[in-house]
Amino acid sequence: MKNNESVVERLRSAQKVVALTGAGVSKESGIPTFRDAQTGLWKDYDPERLATPEGFLADPPLVWQWYDMRREKIADVQPNPGHYALAELEKMIPVVVIVTQNIDGLHAKAGSRDIIELHGNITRHICFDNRHQQEKVPLKLKQPPCCRCGSLIRPDVVWFGEALPPDSLEKAFAEVRSADFIFVVGTSGLVQPAASLPYIGKQAGAYIVEVNPEETPITDIADCFLQGPSGRILSNLIEQLRAIAVEESG
Ligand code: NAD
Repeated sequence: MKNNESVVERLRSAQKVVALTGAGVSKESGIPTFRDAQTGLWKDYDPERLATPEGFLADPPLVWQWYDMRREKIADVQPNPGHYALAELEKMIPVVVIVTQNIDGLHAKAGSRDIIELHGNITRHICFDNRHQQEKVPLKLKQPPCCRCGSLIRPDVVWFGEALPPDSLEKAFAEVRSADFIFVVGTSGLVQPAASLPYIGKQAGAYIVEVNPEETPITDIADCFLQGPSGRILSNLIEQLRAIAVEESG
């Protein structure tokens, strides 16, 4: 497979790899994606009611319980070979940065160390009015508890209509500008501003490799499109890198 060979070559010589990941990278861990037509997370739910600041204020217990249910499920979920492959890459490339839209914490669980979470993390909590960080919040509360300032506590995730944390976004832009190799894994490339990151990286000269079972708007600018589930494709790339390293050392 010519494409695959050149990806391995490019990876071997890369100094800095940035992996932009979306819901698809966690699908093989059993977490539904956002848009998947058949099984998508939002198919049976109304995002306006469940994932907006207005929805939270209109019915705090409903939104709290929905996130509580998701947090409880995610606590038992394990990373899949795709997460592990990206973590393993750190041992082979000088700099590897993960920029994820996911809120599930699975990259960290797999061992990746340099992670920018653009949309927050479902296991963390802040207060609604002042964004005060909260200590561990217990599961199975019927409604959101209150912060020391009196405001309701909410999950530390970015809801529809909210801005991304400016520090994370700025750092993500800087990382793609200085990368020489960018993976775009399991994202539909539709949610802004995360969707603009591959274009910025491409403009700055990075080699773009997309991993996804389906084509997306990003496929057009990708230097290589590896079609299929990220667990298989990424672990296969790591295997090839390992085999070359063994061959060279022997
Ligand atoms: P998306 O749901 O819009 O797109 C998912 C993409 O993953 C699609 O392009 C699909 O073809 C691809 N995909 C499906 N199976 C795959 C596999 N096995 N391997 C690789 N790719 C696969 O997701 P998005 O672009 O990340 O945007 C949705 C938003 O929903 C994000 O803001 C994100 O924060 C949120 N979200 C997060 C999680 C999570 O934390 N795991 C889950 C669902 C949604």
